[in-house]
Amino acid sequence: MSRSAHPAGPRHADVLPEGHPSAPPADLNHLDRKVWASTVTRTPDGVVSVGGVEVTRLAEEFGTPAYLLDETDFRERARAWRTAFGPDADVFYAGKAFLSRAVVRWLHEEGLNLDVCSGGELTTALSAGMPADRIAFHGNNKSVDEIETAIRTGVGRIVLDSFQEIVRVAHIAQSLGKRQRVQIRITVGVEAHTHEFIATAHEDQKFGIPLAGGQAAEAVRRALQLDGLELIGIHSHIGSQIFDMSGFEVAAHRVVGLLKDIRDEHGVELPEIDLGGGLGIAYTSADDPREPHEIAKALTEIVSRECEGAKLRTPRISVEPGRAIVGPTAFTLYEVGTIKPLDGLRTYVSVDGGMSDNIRTALYDAEYSVALVSRTSEAAPMLVRVVGKHCESGDIVVKDAFLPADLAPGDLIAVPATGAYCRSMASNYNHALRPPVVAVRDGEARVIVRRETEEDLLRLDVG
Ligand SMILES: *Cc1c(COP(=O)(O)O)cnc(C)c1O
Repeated sequence: MSRSAHPAGPRHADVLPEGHPSAPPADLNHLDRKVWASTVTRTPDGVVSVGGVEVTRLAEEFGTPAYLLDETDFRERARAWRTAFGPDADVFYAGKAFLSRAVVRWLHEEGLNLDVCSGGELTTALSAGMPADRIAFHGNNKSVDEIETAIRTGVGRIVLDSFQEIVRVAHIAQSLGKRQRVQIRITVGVEAHTHEFIATAHEDQKFGIPLAGGQAAEAVRRALQLDGLELIGIHSHIGSQIFDMSGFEVAAHRVVGLLKDIRDEHGVELPEIDLGGGLGIAYTSADDPREPHEIAKALTEIVSRECEGAKLRTPRISVEPGRAIVGPTAFTLYEVGTIKPLDGLRTYVSVDGGMSDNIRTALYDAEYSVALVSRTSEAAPMLVRVVGKHCESGDIVVKDAFLPADLAPGDLIAVPATGAYCRSMASNYNHALRPPVVAVRDGEARVIVRRETEEDLLRLDVG
């Protein structure tokens, strides 16, 4: 994931980022199936609908900005992952991508497990009825309170991330009279980027225990000695928004290598490996993600082949898709407020949200697309930058896109593929009120996370 600095100022139209369409699409009214949730369609009168409900009606009823989530699409994607991996593997949805109680219930019903990485996520999961033994607890600095709660409530596994944590979790488990199932998260020296990966000896990041220099082997040695821990496997997560499976191949090779070393040294064959998440989705028409069944087939084959080579029993595999399940299922609906053409540059379109509801463009230089959804237009395309209403010139939602030249204040525009890491990373910058998440299905819409109110803001301000 690239983390370039905020753009210092407006960029010239002739330096569009590489790979981004520098020419407008043939038909601005067309909705590319790749980036829109599965039930999104344009009705005969030109208004876009999701789950059978027109966005104009949704805007009237729930206001803008709003995240509109296609429940049918969410369930289908969750089920596709579950089915693709079959009964001999586990699919953990990464809750940090987007978590709410409704989502937890859908996951539970569709047979998925759940990753959490904070006490807040754990509470949400448990309060919506996710069985604790189907929850995995992650994080590089879990608090003592969080660890205690996790063990007390019986989470299925804690993923250990440091030498201190091995001791800390063992100690807490023992003091509670329990033996906690754990995995050890290792870093295998694979830097995965969207379309390539780099295999290195070392990895310069905060998560996990390095395989390099025998540190992961030492962590296993210590974990196996502690009564409070039941070591069930090794965990590796190599990155995010990945399209190329070869990074997973290197990771699986190195994880299985460690399993073999463990067998040779301790006479123990660990029963599980977790290959993490990170599978990419289409944010623009230029992205070509893989289907869950292709991913499952590739990962299963890689692990089986590596284990055969190492003469190990094939361990149970788990995966942790977040973005790949929820990302494509939602779009953000905005109302256009002002339109500012800058001669020879581009037109700035300001919407009623911005970096408070989608920080990814500012944070990662992420690319998005955008469409006029409250009507069709036959006007010529104009090059736009969609920006928010915040006091920051880097407050950009869509860096480069085309919208029809007759765009006017009051029009509704939508940014697709905002289901992951948008509401979950939303902020109150400028005391913005975080938008609601509205689930739409079979002609019915219901709020699953309500819009924040000024009262909510004032309630926290107790000075
Ligand atoms: C973030 C994360 C995931 C999910 O990543 P996606 O890119 O959303 O699939 C899975 N596992 C771990 C450990 C993570 O930190």
